[in-house]
Amino acid sequence: MPHSLPEDFIRQMSGQLGDELEPFLASYEGLRAYGLRLQPQKVQPGSPLWEQLAAMFGLEPVPWCPTGYYYREETRPGKHPFHAAGLYYLQEPSAMSSAELLAPAKGETVLDLAAAPGGKSTQLSAMIGPDGLLVSNEIHPARAQILAENIERMGAANTIVVQSPPDRLAERFPRFFDKIMLDAPCSGEGMFRKDKAAREEWSPAHVEMCAARQLDIFRHALAMLKKGGTIAYSTCTFNRKENEELVSAVLREYPALTLLRTERLWPHKVRGEGHFVAVLRLVGEETEEPQSRKSGKAGRPDKPGPLSAQTAEAWRLFREFAETAFTRKELLPPGEPLLFGEQLYWLPSGREGRFRSALLAGLKSPRPGLHLASIRKKRVEPAHALALAMPTAAFRRTVSFPASSPELAAYLRGEVLPAPSDLPDGWVPVCADCQPLGWAKCAAGQLKNHYPKGLRSR
Ligand code: SAM
Repeated sequence: MPHSLPEDFIRQMSGQLGDELEPFLASYEGLRAYGLRLQPQKVQPGSPLWEQLAAMFGLEPVPWCPTGYYYREETRPGKHPFHAAGLYYLQEPSAMSSAELLAPAKGETVLDLAAAPGGKSTQLSAMIGPDGLLVSNEIHPARAQILAENIERMGAANTIVVQSPPDRLAERFPRFFDKIMLDAPCSGEGMFRKDKAAREEWSPAHVEMCAARQLDIFRHALAMLKKGGTIAYSTCTFNRKENEELVSAVLREYPALTLLRTERLWPHKVRGEGHFVAVLRLVGEETEEPQSRKSGKAGRPDKPGPLSAQTAEAWRLFREFAETAFTRKELLPPGEPLLFGEQLYWLPSGREGRFRSALLAGLKSPRPGLHLASIRKKRVEPAHALALAMPTAAFRRTVSFPASSPELAAYLRGEVLPAPSDLPDGWVPVCADCQPLGWAKCAAGQLKNHYPKGLRSR
């Protein structure tokens, strides 16, 4: 409600918007627009599945994002099993604009520096495709966990989640990335409609503090951008200090940067809560490898070392399992197996093979690539992430129940189900209308439930 908006905020926006203040304030009383973004690797536009989703949720295209749609609030797509299957990500529609404007190409190496809960990361990961590499970073531990879960749900095999302050990351990855997304922590003026806390926390001093922090993070981000690379800076706030003025300050400090474009989505002009995006390019070309990449502490990353005996054995066991579970061999993006204790991951290396495990040494990584399996006493237990990262057609066999069936609801609650009589014993993904949701193990006519405990519905 405009009346509960901070007075200083109204004054600030009056100075900025003039005659447009009234429609801007009125937008706080309007209805919220709800958005979701389809995972293009799982739902192809125009396919029967796409038609089904469009009809169920009343989808209408978001003009600035080809995979983005408005949905009708009452259809509750977040409660549908297809959400758990990673077919879509619920995302505020204007927030979909930043990744589209950054526009990474297939196969590029991308950093999302302030990534949780993962809206932009899941979008970027789909845009760069399996040969691309996304490093998705979040500074706060609890938020980094949520980020990792969302990356896993959307089935992103090309993404590494790290949890690091930007300065540490900048030391590790000088001039490493083709594209960087900096969706900065901000004063959240675009959140006032849905988040009372954002309204209460706001003050002119908070805006100043945010701008100072943004400048600091921006500098670290730029240290990681390759020459010729592009960075998108975005916020969900409206004041100029955290947006145009911040970008001007950065441009003054870095003559090698050029501003390609800025975009403002205003809540009184579009169906969305509002967003600011600036896209900048670092001019020049990489002439030589940055020193730290050639001989840094982490060693030369583009020469894969031999696998340790334990990793080689875990990888051999996993491949044996994969022969029985999958129809195809080439399922994983370029990369290498990585073993942490009993947990086997697939670390994507990017198309040029530049990302190697040595680059993760000493960094916290809640998800060092795609979790493949737990290996215990020579037994392979496939990871939940693996079920979500593979297309249905890749599995030799699946068990599918209608999305609205009592069997599927029971599976999502973690219950044991009767197995189809013709199903051989062993691991099998359980699907909602043919969309993999998680694993079960068939034995003695039963499907033992391996849907992760933390995700089960009550
Ligand atoms: N990009 C995310 C998305 O699309 O889902 C939203 C990111 S949110 C606007 C900004 C993030 O920056 C928050 O997750 C916050 O925890 C993180 N953050 C806070 N302080 C930070 C700092 N000093 N450096 C880096 N990130 C920070």
